[in-house]
Amino acid sequence: MKLDGIHHITCITGDAPANVRFYAGTLGLRLVKKSVNQDVPTIYHLFYADEKGGAGSDITFFEYPGAERGVAGAGMIHLITWRVASDASLDFWEQRLKEHGFDSTREAGRLRFEDPEGLALEIAVVETADEPLKARHPEVPDEHALLGFDGVRVYTNDVERSRDLLESTLGFERDSDSSWTVRGESRGSHFVYDGAPGRGVEGAGTVHHVAWACSMDEHQRWRDRVAAAGANVTPVINRFYFKSIYFREPSGVLFEIATKGPGFSVDEAPDKLGEDLALPPNYKYLRAELEKQLTPLPSMSELGR
Ligand code: ZN
Repeated sequence: MKLDGIHHITCITGDAPANVRFYAGTLGLRLVKKSVNQDVPTIYHLFYADEKGGAGSDITFFEYPGAERGVAGAGMIHLITWRVASDASLDFWEQRLKEHGFDSTREAGRLRFEDPEGLALEIAVVETADEPLKARHPEVPDEHALLGFDGVRVYTNDVERSRDLLESTLGFERDSDSSWTVRGESRGSHFVYDGAPGRGVEGAGTVHHVAWACSMDEHQRWRDRVAAAGANVTPVINRFYFKSIYFREPSGVLFEIATKGPGFSVDEAPDKLGEDLALPPNYKYLRAELEKQLTPLPSMSELGR
């Protein structure tokens, strides 16, 4: 039983319109689901991914309108890395980010930048046999599209605390004293710790959790395994697009294990993903009210689509 790398990464935004402009406009991802927080339906849960909404490419945001900016610290993810195919793609993104008003820093094979709320992001040239998970945006040539996540970097005060859970329970393969590969049959990702600069503050521009992908029929067994290791794991929660369990790894990062299906087409046709507000069954009767209360978002034409 192996985890297939990152399923999705969930972050926090205080400014949903700017968030949509950046991820679905500047970065050219597809807004595959415009839903609401399952606990507070007057705020968005936005999902951006490749064209099919595939696990491995999905970055999602909880909206807390007007939230103060947070800062990454111990027990928090501080950098998200996407793959691209070539140095020419880094040239393209360096230029496109500049045209959209975002500074970036180039190192060998990597380009670092921040989203509009200071979330640290990176695009890296990665050679891999994993399926390229691409979105289509008219202004992003196919050969330069983002290809899905490569990994995340995390701040910790003590790598050793986490080692046993990562290796013995979750099957992460050690690459060095502070970095691991998480690879299953279909995909892999990197998970790397760095020394923490101090305590963090959750807020806009910070990561809330990372989800690892598993097959539908292994989900309960993953829950049993995590529980047997002594972690405080939630029951299986139905997120409609996938099923989830949550627990904190010993360094403090909130982990989720999510099923690779059924996916974002359960309530919208594949060619219509993200166009309408998608509501969980228990909130469907509130549609008219919610559509009035939710923050208006930019249209597809404003995003260059
Ligand atoms: Zn999640």
